[in-house]
Amino acid sequence: MRTVYVNGQYLPEQEASVSIFDRGFLFADGVYEVTSVLGGKLIDFDGHARRLQRSLGEMEMRAPVERGELLAIHRELVTLNEIEDGLIYLQVTRGAPADRDFVYPDEDVAPTIVLFTQSKPGLADSPAARAGISVITIPDARWGRRDIKTVQLLYPSMGKMAAKKAGADDAWMVEDGQVTEGTSNNAYIVKNGAIITRQLSTEILHGITRAAVLRLAREAQMTVEERGFTPDEAREADEAFVTSASAFVMPVVKIDGVALGEGTPGPVARRLREIYLEEALKIAI
Ligand code: PLP
Repeated sequence: MRTVYVNGQYLPEQEASVSIFDRGFLFADGVYEVTSVLGGKLIDFDGHARRLQRSLGEMEMRAPVERGELLAIHRELVTLNEIEDGLIYLQVTRGAPADRDFVYPDEDVAPTIVLFTQSKPGLADSPAARAGISVITIPDARWGRRDIKTVQLLYPSMGKMAAKKAGADDAWMVEDGQVTEGTSNNAYIVKNGAIITRQLSTEILHGITRAAVLRLAREAQMTVEERGFTPDEAREADEAFVTSASAFVMPVVKIDGVALGEGTPGPVARRLREIYLEEALKIAI
């Protein structure tokens, strides 16, 4: 049975609970992070802790614990649940005031903090990474502050379902004619050796994996262009891939039913996955 963390306590999952007045439940008034675990170690914990701090700041929310304690909780959950490979999900909400009210509660209402683990043996060695995934394109109907990692995940969830119904694995979202990102990942294409991905702004999440992958690509003398691209350009690309903390670098081999290149993972995506995993493991804590 899994041990989870709720507001200062480690509890068996079925004994853990959050109030029905919690603003995460009523207003999606919360932020989250997902950190992967490989070989019992946390991948890029610092990046996730920093982004959490930023999300909280942008939402004018109080941090429930400081960085050192957050790291200790992550580590304790890995140990208690004997996680070799998997994920740690963290959520912080604006807490549970006495009643439902659109106005933020007073400062004395404590934020809610919840963490739980998901065991995923062989996370870095997925069959999907060997075969590549397919994506469809859909309109991006999310709110305007996608740089804040909030728990408003209904639209991405609908996008994932639309992909499933269309026989694809995921969806890339399109706004003003250009791809923003995937439902839960950043999106890239490769053309004539250049890696192209949308520039950072409030329109996309600033992926922790994105930052590491682009740094490693530049260090390996690869060309990186941070700019928007259209679905047409993507369908004519040599390769494509997505990045996220749980998928690392995942090759995309089909966009809207059009196979890219040979329809198999391309050399740039394969190489980036290799160097990202190698580097991430080196600095895991
Ligand atoms: N973009 C969106 C919308 C996401 O939800 C995520 C991850 O959940 C990402 C990008 C990738 O971010 P990271 O690499 O930090 O996991």
